[in-house]
Amino acid sequence: MTHRSRKPYIAGNWKMNLDRSRSLDLIKTVKGRLGDGGDREVAFFVPAIYLADVTAVAQGSPLGVGGQNLWYEANGAFTGELAPRMLREVGADRVLIGHSERRHVFHEPDEWMGRKVRAALDADLLPIYCIGETLDERKAGKTERVCKRQLESGCEKIRTEDAHRLTIAYEPVWAIGTGETATIDQVGQVHRTIRKWLVQRLGEDAANLVRILYGGSVKPDNAKDLMAVDNVDGLLVGGASLQAETFLPIIEFDR
Ligand code: PEP
Repeated sequence: MTHRSRKPYIAGNWKMNLDRSRSLDLIKTVKGRLGDGGDREVAFFVPAIYLADVTAVAQGSPLGVGGQNLWYEANGAFTGELAPRMLREVGADRVLIGHSERRHVFHEPDEWMGRKVRAALDADLLPIYCIGETLDERKAGKTERVCKRQLESGCEKIRTEDAHRLTIAYEPVWAIGTGETATIDQVGQVHRTIRKWLVQRLGEDAANLVRILYGGSVKPDNAKDLMAVDNVDGLLVGGASLQAETFLPIIEFDR
C-alpha cells in the first residue's frame, strides 16, 4: 500500500489562540474554499469554549472540528476537565491526545494515554495521538526509543478494528513553534519506524489504515516537501493554522 492510498489529513491546532469572532471568520473562509473537500480531510482543534459556535458554523461542510484534550472518565469530581461525551455534545467529532504541550507544560504522564485514546474511540471521537522526542532525547540518540514507548502507552487498548479511526501525529518537541522543521530524512525515518511498529502491533492490513501526520513548524513553503515523504499522510499545523493566508496553501499543498 502506498502512502497516497490514505486520504491526506491536514489538521490545524489553534492551541489557546484567536478569539470567538476571529475563530468564526476563519472557519467561514476555510469552509467557503473547501467545497465538498472529498479528496482530503481538514480539521481544526479549537479551544473547548468555542466548540459549539465553531461546529455550528462548520455545519454542512466536510470540515472536522475537535477538542484539544479530554479526560477519560465519563463524569465525576475532575474539576476543570472535559469528558469525551461533553465534547461530542457540543459537536466535536475528534480530539487531540498527548499533545507535546500537555505532556511537557502540564506534565501528563504516558500512563494516561492509553485510557484517553480508548475513551475517545468509545465516545465516537476520532483521536489524533501525538508523540515525539525532546531535543535532549534526540541528541542522546533516544528518538526511536521514546516514540516507541509513547506508542506502547497510547495504543495499549487499541484493537485491530479501531485502526481506521486512529491517527498518530509525530511532532518532535524541538520543532513545535520554533520555526525549526525536522529534515525530510528525520521525518522519513521516524514515520517508517512508526509504521513498522504499527504493523507489528496490529498486523499489516490494519496498520496500513492508520494515518501518520507530521507536525512541527509546518508552513506553506515546506508542506509540499513534507507531504511527499513516504508514510507522511498529513500535517498537524499550529501557528500557520491561525490565518487563512497561511493555512489554505497548506491544505492545497498539491495544487
Ligand atoms: C502543534 O501545535 O502541534 C504544532 C506543530 O505547532 P507549530 O506548527 O506552530 O510548530
